[in-house]
Amino acid sequence: MTIQTVTVLGAGTMGHGIAHGTIAAGYRTRLFDVSDAQLAKARAQIEGILKKSVELGRMVAGDVDAAMSRLTTTSDVATALNGTEFIIEAAPEKVELKLKLFADIEAHAPAAAVIASNTSALSITELAGSIRNPSRVGGMHFFNPVHKMKLIEMVRALETSEATLETIAAVSRTMGKETVLVREAPGFITTRVNASIGNEAFYMLMEGVASARDIDKALKLGLNHPMGPFELVDLVGLDTRLSILEYLHKSLGEKYRPCPLLVQYVKAGRLGKKVGKGVYDY
Ligand code: NAD
Repeated sequence: MTIQTVTVLGAGTMGHGIAHGTIAAGYRTRLFDVSDAQLAKARAQIEGILKKSVELGRMVAGDVDAAMSRLTTTSDVATALNGTEFIIEAAPEKVELKLKLFADIEAHAPAAAVIASNTSALSITELAGSIRNPSRVGGMHFFNPVHKMKLIEMVRALETSEATLETIAAVSRTMGKETVLVREAPGFITTRVNASIGNEAFYMLMEGVASARDIDKALKLGLNHPMGPFELVDLVGLDTRLSILEYLHKSLGEKYRPCPLLVQYVKAGRLGKKVGKGVYDY
């Protein structure tokens, strides 16, 4: 199925980046959000990313106008979905909110439209089970910031069809992304591995194996990680990391039990860069 029109639901951190990617790839894109202020902000952010590409010599000035002409924004869900072919759901990580959007999709989008959810942890099978044809739903897990990160984790839910996965793969390729295929499982590949590394680093710090600076330095210079685990957790937020580990612990078992030192840092309000102090002080 050749896609021409894409709808992105949610214009936040991920939604605006995804919409930038789809217009840059040549798709007519409708960006939906419940907030008009957020839509205006997203439009400005998208234009900003395009202009930056011109500065970097990756685009010519005329391409910015051409790309922006492919973008429409709306706070009316029916307008966003009517006649669309491919839907990327990037609304807040709340199941009842996503289920309501799936009901809107069922009501307003063509029955053949493919639905890709960008959820980080919710069950795509549950979202898919809420509509008549669950085979047209799969996962399309982008990374932040979308315009810089190459990977998309494609997620096969219980009833996702091959045709749906092929369409998600084709759109990903056109957006210049690389894909991996994951069966629906907590944390997919990246979140699970990353949470384990981060948790292990906290255990080593707690046991006095090495200082935070030396653990970060070792992973960067010895294992070629672009950032150390403590630099990264300070960026992600220690509270966010703790809730991911609690979820993995609950769903996958003992080896994901959050390190007591991480729990203590969160209790102390050392939540990371966003509050000026995490593992490091800023
Ligand atoms: P965000 O809070 O930055 O943006 C969500 C947007 O959705 C907001 O603009 C909000 O106004 C809008 N919104 C609220 N209710 C809505 C509704 N009913 N319909 C449509 N839009 C609505 O969130 P985000 O970080 O962009 O996350 C979106 C999704 O992407 C989540 O499922 C999250 O788990 C996933 N995700 C996030 C990241 C990340 O690093 N932030 C990475 C991968 C996946």
